[in-house]
Amino acid sequence: MATHTTPTESESAWREVAAGVHLLTAEPDTVTIGLVVGSEAAVLIDTGSTPAQGARLRARVAEVTDVPLVAAVITHGHRDHWFGLAGVDVPGYGHESLVDLAAAPDPELQTGLARAGLTAAELRAPEHPVSLAGVVALGDRRVELIFVGAGHSRSDLVALVPGEGERPTVIFAGDLVESLPEEQPTPQIGPDADLGSWVDAVGQLMGLAGDAIIVPGHGAPVDARFLDTQGGDLAQTRFLAQQLAADGVPLAEAEHRGEWPLPWAAIEPGVRQVYAGIPKRLPLI
Ligand SMILES: [Zn+2]
Repeated sequence: MATHTTPTESESAWREVAAGVHLLTAEPDTVTIGLVVGSEAAVLIDTGSTPAQGARLRARVAEVTDVPLVAAVITHGHRDHWFGLAGVDVPGYGHESLVDLAAAPDPELQTGLARAGLTAAELRAPEHPVSLAGVVALGDRRVELIFVGAGHSRSDLVALVPGEGERPTVIFAGDLVESLPEEQPTPQIGPDADLGSWVDAVGQLMGLAGDAIIVPGHGAPVDARFLDTQGGDLAQTRFLAQQLAADGVPLAEAEHRGEWPLPWAAIEPGVRQVYAGIPKRLPLI
């Protein structure tokens, strides 16, 4: 019999960050789950790490509202945001690349599936794939889904809840923004990230942000100033990597040759990517 050591799952209480916008934290991956409630319908933002957790989150909607849950939005195709979708009995919305990813999971997803004791067949593709933009209508309000380009993954989809009057705009940024750990919030540049276009994606997000409450995929809500700082760290990382690669500094020495704004372990895959993208030049003479 296969043995799976599944870390203990739990979900916090809901907390309301703006009128009709509720958050909770799903463990063991400390994912921020959103619930946006309108006059006629509600939508769940992200679904947790397993179908069982997704089902519990779906059941917890009733603690907040009597209106029907009509949709679940996946902010990107990583297991801790997506695997719960199979346990949520409403149509899913996500970036269109999730359809192919569900049909042929990449190695990281396969590892995640094995760890969770799931098969690839249990990975549910969104019924409503979004290429650039989409909308979920909730009666007196709506949630806009916007693809601002690849960044933390190839499938980052931002969910924007427009403000009105005193009500602030809320932007669910997925893992494009990271406010954990609290002492040094660090965006995770994994193997499927695209550091080059992530910098531009954050720039686009800045254009949408204004006074909005920005909800990261992990950690407490932040504001546009935080977003600006994190985007600056990513931009500096990209610039430094380009510079060292152009100067011919080997990747193995790069860690100690630059004043990196973020911990090396978190950015190394991104630096490697930048190196791989610099064309090798022939000697000039
Ligand atoms: Zn992620």
